[in-house]
Amino acid sequence: MADPKPKKTVFSGIQPTGGGLHIGNLIGAISLWVKEQDKHDNIFCIVDLHAITIPEDIEAARLRSNSLDVAALYLACGIDPEKSLVFVQSQVRQHSELAWILECTTPMGWMNRMTQFKSKSEGRETVGIGLYTYPILQAADILLYHTDFVPVGEDQRQHIEITQDIAERFEGLFGYHFTRPEIMVRDVGARIMGLDDPEAKMSKSAGKTGHSIGVLDAPEVILKKLKSAKTDSRTAVDASDLSPGVRNLLTIYHAFAGGTWDETLKRFDGSGYGGLKMGVAEAVIAGLEPIQRRFREVRDDEEGLIRFLTRSAEAAADRAEATMREVRKAVGVW
Ligand code: ATP
Ligand code: MG
Repeated sequence: MADPKPKKTVFSGIQPTGGGLHIGNLIGAISLWVKEQDKHDNIFCIVDLHAITIPEDIEAARLRSNSLDVAALYLACGIDPEKSLVFVQSQVRQHSELAWILECTTPMGWMNRMTQFKSKSEGRETVGIGLYTYPILQAADILLYHTDFVPVGEDQRQHIEITQDIAERFEGLFGYHFTRPEIMVRDVGARIMGLDDPEAKMSKSAGKTGHSIGVLDAPEVILKKLKSAKTDSRTAVDASDLSPGVRNLLTIYHAFAGGTWDETLKRFDGSGYGGLKMGVAEAVIAGLEPIQRRFREVRDDEEGLIRFLTRSAEAAADRAEATMREVRKAVGVW
């Protein structure tokens, strides 16, 4: 007999910020979405409203085109439109509406604790309020669909925890119950570090050459970046004592080559850093090749892609509106 229990809902998203997706996004987030895709009811969003939280970096035509790039990459990486809903956040207005309502119920003190705000606002002369309230928009994204699981990188843990608190406070005030989402992270690869600085998370917005490997980088670029990746003062891998830089390279290899972590350690234990970097480059280049090929096919049909995203946004809006009708009633707005 078929299981009467409906599938659990998965929601996740990536910002179409400049610089393009990097292998950290692929390993930490998208690979997990694809792996779990058959089991769940999946919603994958291109979160462009989050990308405007640093408006100085935005150019309108570029942002629209970045959103299409991210959508095409989702599909190229193996997100199947038959199994997953893929849409652009700003096309579903309910995200902004719920975010405003939750901004009114979330204490400022909770936002003051968010570490990502501190790191992203550092060194900027002006910081928009949106960067500060960003986790509330993210909570709205997740809660709108009564999400059970949020597959993300480790850097998002604090934001998922605050989403649970935001849902609880809203229920305390207005009696409406949102499903409490749980974080889903990889065992190995949930935080890929920068090639230039293995103490800092690989990020799209870091903007330094040699920091990240782009999912669309050409093979020779990948090889060059890996060759100059920071390791340590030793010359060969010691599997019993890994420095952050060497651990990061092994983690990247492991994510692309598959197998167990022990197999990865055994494969490179004692090998010189030149050999390690070459082995990582080969695995990454081979893993990205089919993704890059499919990306071109999907992205080249821009009209088809826009039609697909618009249809998906309509389906998402139907689901979001069902939640919003209840939320509006609970709060007393029309
Ligand atoms: P930005 O610098 O614009 O914030 P980002 O690289 O942090 O870019 P996001 O769009 O913020 O990317 O995050 C998209 C997804 O990728 C999230 O699930 C996030 O946790 C994951 N992610 C981001 N960076 C890494 C990383 N270095 N390792 C593993 N997962 C990551
Ligand atoms: Mg980020």
